[in-house]
Amino acid sequence: MSQFWSPIVHDLEPYIPGEQPKVANLIKLNTNENPYGPSPKVLEAIRLGVSDQLRLYPDPNATELKQTIADYYNVDKNQVFVGNGSDEVLAHIFHALFQHNAPLLFPDITYSFYPVYCKLYEIDYQTVPLNDSLEISLQDYSTNNAGIIFPNPNAPTGCLLSLNEIETLLKRNTNSVVVVDEAYIDFGGETAISLVDQYPNLLVTQTLSKSRSLASLRIGLAIGHKDLIEALVRVKDSFNSYPLDSLSIKAGVEAFKDQPYFEQSCQKIIASRQWLTQELIDIGFEVLPSSANFIFVRHPDYDASTLASGLRQQALIVRHFKNQRIKQYLRITVGTNEENQQLLAVLDSLV
Ligand SMILES: *Cc1c(COP(=O)(O)O)cnc(C)c1O
Repeated sequence: MSQFWSPIVHDLEPYIPGEQPKVANLIKLNTNENPYGPSPKVLEAIRLGVSDQLRLYPDPNATELKQTIADYYNVDKNQVFVGNGSDEVLAHIFHALFQHNAPLLFPDITYSFYPVYCKLYEIDYQTVPLNDSLEISLQDYSTNNAGIIFPNPNAPTGCLLSLNEIETLLKRNTNSVVVVDEAYIDFGGETAISLVDQYPNLLVTQTLSKSRSLASLRIGLAIGHKDLIEALVRVKDSFNSYPLDSLSIKAGVEAFKDQPYFEQSCQKIIASRQWLTQELIDIGFEVLPSSANFIFVRHPDYDASTLASGLRQQALIVRHFKNQRIKQYLRITVGTNEENQQLLAVLDSLV
């Protein structure tokens, strides 16, 4: 604390990212990174981008990347926004679109960055409880609001909403922006991007950190009506004109172009998730149905934090949240086959 801090800094409760320990031979299943690495074409594009040209500023509009994404999703380039990770894209969304005279609505159990942005941008919010199966019930989002945001599939539960359920919400909620955070949509869900032309208050965000295995480069995007995108551009150009460096722009383009590699690595993760789910059920765990690259599990007879420390002693780290409602659960990222087998062996020895 310091006398030099602005008043708002005193009250911030910053987000705590999952740890990135510098320990050799650790099996890291705590931050939902992709175990398979980016496409070789992405790595080649980065290598080619390392040149004397790095002295120049990158394209402030990341035009090539936006066009590639627009082509991929069959939308117009002015319906696409890109930023330094979807976290930054989300920050601009909160700043640009959620400050009105009503609370923002989001689930009680969800991505814990949302309340942090509310604090930073002084946005009033109200959490809406998940139902008893820890699923989002969109019919509960019917109160007066300044916006609605939820991940689909939700984090950290992995539970998926259908496009139908989302469209029902959009038909009812027409006076505020609805943001669907699709960080994990490529692992088995159906994107809501197909609805943006019909619903001018719908904004969909995605990230290249998970399904495209580029967490380190920080590339995120939003797709929606051009007027919503323009609001984000106005905030971005009042904050940082160059959120994406030239290497990230080139890498992002290749990540979308190499569709076979992308599909193959998603399929491998989906198959491993199904295998891991069944194996864990067989040794007594309850596993929520996941459409993400992680699973959310508990064991009826063993304390989750005890299990997490038992795993850690064997050099395996998973994510455990202290929140009362989910403190008996562990969130486990789906790893490579060997990592998953090791996880299973250690958990089997602990229960
Ligand atoms: C990982 C994640 C993000 C952030 O992704 P980045 O692009 O790496 O910033 C956003 N929302 C949810 C729900 C996530 O799990």
